[in-house]
Amino acid sequence: MAKRDYYEILGVPKGASDDEIKKAYRKLSKKYHPDINKEPDADEKFKEVTEAYEVLSDSQKRAAYDQYGHASTDPNFGGGGFGGGFGGSGFGGFTGGFDDIFDTFFGGGGGRSRNPNAPRQGADLQYRMNLKFEEAIFGKKETIRYQRDEECATCHGSGAKPGTEPVTCSKCHGSGTIQVERNTPFGRVMTQAVCDVCGGTGEEIPEKCPTCHGSGHVQKTHSVNVTIPAGVEDGQQLRLAGQGEIGQNGGPYGDLYVVFAVEESDIFDRDGSEIYYVLPISFVQATLGTEVEVPTVHGNVKLKIPAGTQTGTTFRLKGKGAPRLRGTVNGDQHVKVTITTPKNLNEEQKEALHKFADASGELVSDGHGGFFDKMRDAFKK
Ligand SMILES: [Zn+2]
Ligand SMILES: [Zn+2]
Repeated sequence: MAKRDYYEILGVPKGASDDEIKKAYRKLSKKYHPDINKEPDADEKFKEVTEAYEVLSDSQKRAAYDQYGHASTDPNFGGGGFGGGFGGSGFGGFTGGFDDIFDTFFGGGGGRSRNPNAPRQGADLQYRMNLKFEEAIFGKKETIRYQRDEECATCHGSGAKPGTEPVTCSKCHGSGTIQVERNTPFGRVMTQAVCDVCGGTGEEIPEKCPTCHGSGHVQKTHSVNVTIPAGVEDGQQLRLAGQGEIGQNGGPYGDLYVVFAVEESDIFDRDGSEIYYVLPISFVQATLGTEVEVPTVHGNVKLKIPAGTQTGTTFRLKGKGAPRLRGTVNGDQHVKVTITTPKNLNEEQKEALHKFADASGELVSDGHGGFFDKMRDAFKK
């Protein structure tokens, strides 16, 4: 049978205040109380009303219900686990299962997971590595150092002073959980809670390890050799398994993510494995053709500029780009030609250009031996 909506059961709107919910519950619980109401389904109705009130009167349970519906009260729901700290909160589980659900949802808050003694992987860490433009292209090996939590060498993670042993917790007798009385609208109810003496481990450490003070782990400078693959790009990251923080309850270490920050080059632009370079040449070189030396990350390369090359023409230097991360060949370097207009010419150069213009039948009106000068000279004669 499909479950009815809790708000509907109490006959209140979704946005009802706590007061409205309480009033509605009082009225209905009186109406259906099995001691008062002898109808056959009164008992069922009373339970339904009670359950609805249990959820809607607790702000956290209500929030979860609003978001996940009845699934939020199903002990089998979740499982996948939502990371992130919801923070230890002291709500009591009336219907049983609630603690579990919330721990599944908001895991990790205050060590109140389904089984606080289950092994858990340590936290991941991130390391930012700056690389020069060429270093990213060719890769390199580097040893990096950073702080992380590691197993305490004195007690080997037990937290107990060497020569001593942890003992069974005197309060929970090793179960890690204790029975707690909670006030509910129906009187006092016993619920389970994590043992406050041992924090759920079921063990007490009578003599704590002097190095780690009982935690079993210590902050240490850890070093790792990193092989930076040739061809990495800005923002890419490398995962180094097991180089993060120590796990809990014997769980594995977390991972380290090395994030690369690649410097820009003054002369090259890079897009993946392709490198771009702008080559300025004179209009004479472009016109008559020439051979020039072009810098690449692999050293200088000769490039033939054919006669009549237009500005903006791009030449491809095959294999002179960056390595492709998943491939055996390099990308290319693209050389874009821009033609520079000469400035500050001397008289001889100007003369030569005027001759060139004359030969091309072009009009040059710079007042310097051009077409109009010739006209003027002609009239003077
Ligand atoms: Zn220790
Ligand atoms: Zn205990």
